[in-house]
Amino acid sequence: MMNTKYTPIIGLEIHVELKTQSKMFCGCSASHFQVEPNTHTCPVCLGLPGALPVANQKAIEWCQLIGLALNCRLAKESKFDRKNYFYPDLAKSYQISQYDQPLCYQGEVVLKNGHKIGITRVHMEEDTGKSIHKKINGEDQTLIDFNRSGVPLVEIVTEPDFRNPEDVDEFLKTLRQIIRYLDVSDADMEKGSMRLELNMSLTSHPELISGSHPQFPNYKVEVKNINSFKYLQKALVYEFARQAEILDRGETPVQETRGYQEDVDKTISQRSKEDAQDYRYFPEPDIPPMVFEEKDLENLKKLLPELPQQKREKFTKTFGISTETAWVLTESKELALYFEQAVKLGEVLKIEAATIANVIKNKKYDWQKLSPEELITKLKQESSDKVSDEGALGKIIDEILKNNPKVVEDYKAGKVQVLGFLVGQVMRQTQGKADAEISNKVLRQKLK
Ligand SMILES: [Zn+2]
Repeated sequence: MMNTKYTPIIGLEIHVELKTQSKMFCGCSASHFQVEPNTHTCPVCLGLPGALPVANQKAIEWCQLIGLALNCRLAKESKFDRKNYFYPDLAKSYQISQYDQPLCYQGEVVLKNGHKIGITRVHMEEDTGKSIHKKINGEDQTLIDFNRSGVPLVEIVTEPDFRNPEDVDEFLKTLRQIIRYLDVSDADMEKGSMRLELNMSLTSHPELISGSHPQFPNYKVEVKNINSFKYLQKALVYEFARQAEILDRGETPVQETRGYQEDVDKTISQRSKEDAQDYRYFPEPDIPPMVFEEKDLENLKKLLPELPQQKREKFTKTFGISTETAWVLTESKELALYFEQAVKLGEVLKIEAATIANVIKNKKYDWQKLSPEELITKLKQESSDKVSDEGALGKIIDEILKNNPKVVEDYKAGKVQVLGFLVGQVMRQTQGKADAEISNKVLRQKLK
């Protein structure tokens, strides 16, 4: 970071809204983006007396799939708990969440540089409603929309394993990619279907935080309201400088929750940090605990699609593509599937996977504007147009060498750069259809 005196200790908390049809504990539609306010509600998600929640099986399964994709262990016994607090957008005055028995725990994500980021837990909860601050007839008003209330939300908590902002950025992009491959959420920061919080403290004794008995600093600051990966980076830089300055004065930063304000690029104190006990967690009495058999968990694994890492391995091993190109081809699931389909079609017409990979990577054609069939047709056309016959090229080259005796002399005198000129001549004679590699080879042979 900007100061080598301190090492940052960073952890993340990520909320991901699932794109299930219905909400977490009722049958209301979970869609709430650009929907007429308060049209997707019922007694359950409005918290009316006597309404009983029923857990959404699909959401639980998707939460477990996220856990599996993050190499977590899946709990055989799990349950929901009530997290009690008052807020206007929380109609029941409690959120149904998970406290001491999350669905998934002890996972791990390995970054490109080999750094391992531990996943503490992945649990299931419900989203709250949304307060909308508006001026009505010249007066400030707050309106509440409960369409989002009860939408399935997965919380992913990491260990405080990050030591620099670059790793944080890579981790988040990897996580978003995995979630999109699983097709369980659009993980769109702008729409709020992926939300970030970070916690951070600094130490001037990095040796104390490695090893099996790490000694962390005696304070931790949480930062909320981060709406993009870019702002998260800015919040990290700001928080680092703020905490470093306090430590430099010989003081300890206050243990608190701060909010990032993008307009001024600062974090602002919101409240002193609350403990779990402040929420008076207790088991949700209206939903029976969940028990999973070994075979249920084994069956879940079969539902996992091929993830980016597996696709990359497959691409490099089976198709002999470079790791770098494999990363580009797996950027999105759409692109990876497109490539796979093109390779399949290419096989029949003898167009190599590596050729297809390079064409996509070098953006020779915009893959989003061509179907895999159209792409392969184009590539086939190109290769049949190409003059790659050594005999045919040899005749053209003989002619060129005869007409350029001075250049040939220069080459023989050691001016090897004239080769480029000669290749250019071959291209001109063939209207660009000559195979550059073969032309080069034949030219060198004839010039010997
Ligand atoms: Zn409802």
